[in-house]
Amino acid sequence: LDPDQFRTQAHLVVDFLADYYSNIEKYTVCSQVEPGFLTETMPDSPPFQPQPLESILQDVQEHIIPGITHWQSPAFFAYFQSNGSTTNFLAEMLLTGFNTVGFSWLASPAATELKIVVMEWLLKLLQLPKSFSFSSDGGGVIHGSTCESFICTLVAARQKKLNEIETQNLVVYCSDQTHFSLQKSTQIVGISPDNVRAIPTTKSMNFQLCPDALLMAIEDDVRAGLVPFYLCLTVGTTPTTAVDPIGVLCEVAKKFNMWCHVDATYAGSACICPEFRHFLDGIEGANSFSFNPHKWLLTSLDCCCLWVKDRSEFTKGLATDPELLKNKASESKQVVDYKDWQIALSRRFRTMKLWMVMKSYGVSGLREFIRRHVKMAKYFETLLLRDKRFEVVVPRNFATVCFRIAPLGESSDEEDVNRLTKRLLESVNGTGKVYVTHAVVENIYVIRVAIGATLIEEKHVNMLWDMVQKHANALLAS
Ligand code: PLP
Repeated sequence: LDPDQFRTQAHLVVDFLADYYSNIEKYTVCSQVEPGFLTETMPDSPPFQPQPLESILQDVQEHIIPGITHWQSPAFFAYFQSNGSTTNFLAEMLLTGFNTVGFSWLASPAATELKIVVMEWLLKLLQLPKSFSFSSDGGGVIHGSTCESFICTLVAARQKKLNEIETQNLVVYCSDQTHFSLQKSTQIVGISPDNVRAIPTTKSMNFQLCPDALLMAIEDDVRAGLVPFYLCLTVGTTPTTAVDPIGVLCEVAKKFNMWCHVDATYAGSACICPEFRHFLDGIEGANSFSFNPHKWLLTSLDCCCLWVKDRSEFTKGLATDPELLKNKASESKQVVDYKDWQIALSRRFRTMKLWMVMKSYGVSGLREFIRRHVKMAKYFETLLLRDKRFEVVVPRNFATVCFRIAPLGESSDEEDVNRLTKRLLESVNGTGKVYVTHAVVENIYVIRVAIGATLIEEKHVNMLWDMVQKHANALLAS
């Protein structure tokens, strides 16, 4: 790595990206390429001779960008956003520049200690109970994804249960709104799909997990000789951003000595604002809690923060002690070796991103960022509520609005409404100017509008609203 060449080439890439961001609204938000667009056109072997950066960047512009869905576009309203920031980008440069592999304290003391500092800052910001803090028996770690946090907490919960009772009949509970990455995680840790209970939810209860329904499912399993061991609750479900009532559900889990994990992947960021913190009420009853700053806190992929209440219990199922890594610091037990808090051995210095974002925005800037999106979502929701052609399917909790074409009274055929709503989504997306996605809840097809792009302004919400009305008019007229 030649420092002079690095300086020149890094400037080229920064200029390239600055141009990309200046022009981002000119691109079709959701890529329109056909399968095979690259695999069939790229050479089938790498170049033998080195190529200059200029020609590589030209390839990116001509061949790669057409196949990119522009998640950073201000007209990206799909899934949940993954927003970034200049600060995050600069932090990525720093952490990639240092390229440390901080699996143990000794392998990069700053990576470990900065993580502890940042996780304690965030703990305060989210007003998480002291029991999740390093100053007590808990602590926090940064993972790459929620899936990873699910897997690690499932392993810990299983280990804990197996220490109490030897059984193969362990059962996991969640709701039918829980993200499918829990299902994937249970498959990875070897829990039979027959032993995962996705308790049905209803629109009449805003798709929250009902404590009585959970209790009944657990009691049925216990009667059948099965052992409940893990409950996953969600604050801000993916389809409609529903919030499970944590306190009362944790009480149910406690009765059966189960591990309770709270997944706030999307909505956790909002809980740094005092007006949203109540969604975490009852969190003191949970064993672990995670959220992804890479969704809504100006920190790009990958960054999932996980706290556990009992770090010694958590690491039991994940810890290893190879001769190769033995050192005085680890043996002193005075340091955290994060290799025992995750799946992989090696770790990126991801904390650099969160630390720099928190420093450069400050708590006030971060709260302002969230509030700006919530305000725009509220505005979009108000527009829909005032218009009889549309129905807001569930009350908005954060900055995601779920709506459909309004049924025409009792006699309206739900399937027709679903078909029309789906056609509305397809025709709005067909313009290439915006991108929205859908969910199906209790057989209702809903269009989800997730507002959270870093570059979004009210004019983009107005553009979406104009488009929704225009396309709905055309569909309803036909
Ligand atoms: N949980 C919720 C509520 C989500 O919305 C998502 C993704 O959107 C996930 C989990 C999966 O997160 P990850 O991709 O970090 O595993």
